[in-house]
Amino acid sequence: MSEDLLKKITAHCKEYGFVFPTTEIYDGPGAVYDYGPMGCALKNNIRRYWWESMVEAHENIVGIDSAILMHPTTWKASGHVDAFNDPLIDNKDSKKRYRADTLIEDHLARLEEKIEKEVEKARKRFGSQFDEALFRSTNARILELQSRREAVHKKFKEALEKNDLEALRALILEEEITCPVSGTRNWTEVRQFNLMFATQLGSLSDDSLTLYLRPETAQGIFVNFLNVQKSSRLKVPFGIAQVGKAFRNEIVARQFIFRMREFEQMEMQFFVRPGTEEEWYDYWKTRRMEWHRRLGLGTDLHRFHDHEKLAHYAKAACDIEFRFPMGFKELEGIHSRTDFDLKNHQEYSGKKMSYFDPDLNESYIPYVIETSIGLDRMFLAVMTAAFHEEKLPDGTERTVLHIHPALAPVKFAVLPLVPKDGMDTLARRIFDDLRRQAPGQYDEKDSIGRRYRRQDALGTPFCFTVDSQTLQDGTVTVRHRDSMAQERIPAEQTKAFLEEHTSLRSLVWSR
Ligand code: ATP
Repeated sequence: MSEDLLKKITAHCKEYGFVFPTTEIYDGPGAVYDYGPMGCALKNNIRRYWWESMVEAHENIVGIDSAILMHPTTWKASGHVDAFNDPLIDNKDSKKRYRADTLIEDHLARLEEKIEKEVEKARKRFGSQFDEALFRSTNARILELQSRREAVHKKFKEALEKNDLEALRALILEEEITCPVSGTRNWTEVRQFNLMFATQLGSLSDDSLTLYLRPETAQGIFVNFLNVQKSSRLKVPFGIAQVGKAFRNEIVARQFIFRMREFEQMEMQFFVRPGTEEEWYDYWKTRRMEWHRRLGLGTDLHRFHDHEKLAHYAKAACDIEFRFPMGFKELEGIHSRTDFDLKNHQEYSGKKMSYFDPDLNESYIPYVIETSIGLDRMFLAVMTAAFHEEKLPDGTERTVLHIHPALAPVKFAVLPLVPKDGMDTLARRIFDDLRRQAPGQYDEKDSIGRRYRRQDALGTPFCFTVDSQTLQDGTVTVRHRDSMAQERIPAEQTKAFLEEHTSLRSLVWSR
């Protein structure tokens, strides 16, 4: 996996109508993207997979859709006005701006890589005799790299915990971290930068109010906690889910749709009795990993990562990381948020946020476990796992998206082998019947081979080909995207075939 792969995915997304840079004709703002016809369909399917798994598959989880513009005190209470900052540093030669913490994290990852390379080299040298554990614990070079990594890591953790900007800068200088663009170590001081976008409500400057575009969807859930609980007659434990836009003025906004300034989150806040948060935290960690694994993207692509530094609200937190082309990075966060948010909203608003528990006959402010995933990041994860350039036995190549059939934007294509002799008329009839069931395409242009390639590039899992035999016995060829195998089935079975192989509902419930 490499940055090169990310470039290829980005180009593929543009060429086939998945994702375009926004307002491209004006060289639009960086790190904001538009989804094209294919991307929009794939994104909708991922959203539905999440929504049906979280809301419809749980009797005690309900969904809401809250506003992007909220009263600004929300963000005082949530801690975002004071604490939603990134430490930034500029390189004076390249004039490029970086997150100081990310520069150090990348440096740590490089040290880690060096260790792994040494191990791999030794594995090759010693062959079957290789004792990895022994090598790791005795080799001088490995021990030196390990102790350096640990020392840097310790200092980094301390600086983050104390919010010590000087110490972050000192570490960057000590470790001789250079700017990837200029290659120099000519750094400015480290400064804090608030990530929220501000805007004005009202037309006159004296009666206007500064509002923020929400940096997360979670607060819309917290402020509605009692509205939802009462109107839906819910009992703790229960959850509230929502999908919606969030905005962050990210400093380092590169890497395609991995880090955007406008993006979509899928968040669920699960309200529990205080004292039970640990078991629910473990429960949701397991359930969310299952959700990812069910897509069969590959067994070595996900891992858990516990947070070094807990956010201002958290008691425990971990990420589900995914192996993106740039390496393992956060895909989803699972956080034990205590009663931090509800308690603060109660304090700042003066309105009670407690829940009366009829089973205990007492009132309390529930604790919260949050699962939070970026829809766009999930899109990139699906694309990363799906995108393949394959050499075929006949020497040709194909670019194919191995997207799970339930998420694929186009589920099927109907192709007449040649558009004549009644094959086209029959193929059209089959297509018109099937499109009532699932999104598909009819294509009669170019050779059959080229049409298969086009569908491979969109990730269409099945093509139904109508040939002269179809005219005689009513069977069509099913061509499978992944194996490229072909089989014949009666045309009237294509509906049932699609239902069996592409149903999102089956994926959601296949636990
Ligand atoms: P990061 O450390 O990558 O900045 P975060 O820890 O700030 O992320 P959270 O606040 O936990 O992220 O947000 C939850 C999820 O929202 C993340 O796991 C990620 O999938 C998604 N997300 C966060 N920021 C962005 C962004 N700028 N662009 C796209 N997705 C994002």
